Formats: sequence, C-alpha cells, structure tokens
Amino acid sequence: MKNVYIGLGSNLGDKSGQLQTARKMIDKIRDLEVTRASSLYLTSPWGNTEQEDFVNQVIEARTRLPAMELLYKLQEIEIKMGRQRNGRWGPRTIDLDILLYGDETIDLKDLKVPHPHMRKRLFVLIPLHEINPELVFPEDGVKLEEVLINALDREGNRGIRKI
Ligand code: ATP
Ligand code: MG
Ligand code: MG
Repeated sequence: MKNVYIGLGSNLGDKSGQLQTARKMIDKIRDLEVTRASSLYLTSPWGNTEQEDFVNQVIEARTRLPAMELLYKLQEIEIKMGRQRNGRWGPRTIDLDILLYGDETIDLKDLKVPHPHMRKRLFVLIPLHEINPELVFPEDGVKLEEVLINALDREGNRGIRKI
C-alpha cells in the first residue's frame, strides 16, 4: 500500500462543482481509498497568469495501484469530465496531478514524482500542509513546513484563501 497525494485544480465553469465531481470519481477508483481532503482554495493562476482564478485542493489516499495505473485512472477522469488541452498551463475543467507516491522518486517520460513544480506552488503547499503539517519530502528529508514558510516569505500568500 502506498500513501499518495493528488492535486486537483479547475478554472473553467463551476470550478468547485467540478472538484466535487472529480472527488466522487476518485472515490470510485477500485483499490484506492481517500483518507484526507483539504479545504477548497481560491488561487491565482500560475505560469500563464492571463486567465481565470483556480479552485485547488489536495487529497491524500492509500492505494495498491502502481503509479502509472493511478496516472491512467486520473487521466480517464480528466477525459470523462471533458478536459481539453488549452495550451501549457491554460484553462481547464479539471487537472489531476500526482504530487507524491509514497516515498518514491519516479522519472519516466509521462510521470515525474514528486511533482516537479510542487515546491514552488503555494496552491499545492498550503492545502498539503492543511492535511499533513508533519510531511517531510521523501527525496531529501526537507520539511514541508520549511518549504511553505520560505515560499510565503518570498512571495506572500498571493491572495490564496479557503472557500
Ligand atoms: P503541470 O504538470 O505543470 O501542473 P499540467 O498539469 O497542466 O502542468 P497536463 O496537461 O495535465 O499538465 O499534463 C501533461 C502531462 O504531464 C501528462 O500527459 C502526464 O503524462 C505528465 N505528467 C508528468 N508527471 C505527472 C504527474 N506527477 N502527475 C500528472 N501528470 C504528470
Ligand atoms: Mg497541473
Ligand atoms: Mg496535469
């Protein structure tokens, strides 16, 4: 069994509704059990900033699915929910990213874990800290709390707030 963290995001249409729908579909994945879920957060876009605000959430789950199978299940949900690829970091109905998969480091073409951008994304760090304030990054033992405090010192909280 692996303890995994999944990041959810939406910035098109009924964003909170879409996160709830995705969550229900994740609950139905066989061999996966959601153990914790953060609040929903309203966050400013990252990377490509000329677009609508996002709603983001992080959930924790236990699963016996291999990492690639988990990725396929999440992509299936993205497709079922009508996600279209609108350019890099563009608007999307739903984005489901694997943030951490146990303490594994994965470097495949289609799957990089820990998620390569997670340490600089407050919309990931803040909800992750809400559900597991004790978390330590598996690849180097650095505390989430430390990474979060540094990110907040650097850029403030950029208006991220719980819905
Ligand atoms: P970002 O990964 O920077 O958050 P994004 O989520 O918008 O960007 P997508 O369009 O959702 O990017 O995904 C592009 C590709 O990223 C997917 O086809 C998938 O194979 C790959 N990918 C690599 N690592 C991961 C991961 N940890 N979780 C989900 N997808 C990943
Ligand atoms: Mg993403
Ligand atoms: Mg993605």
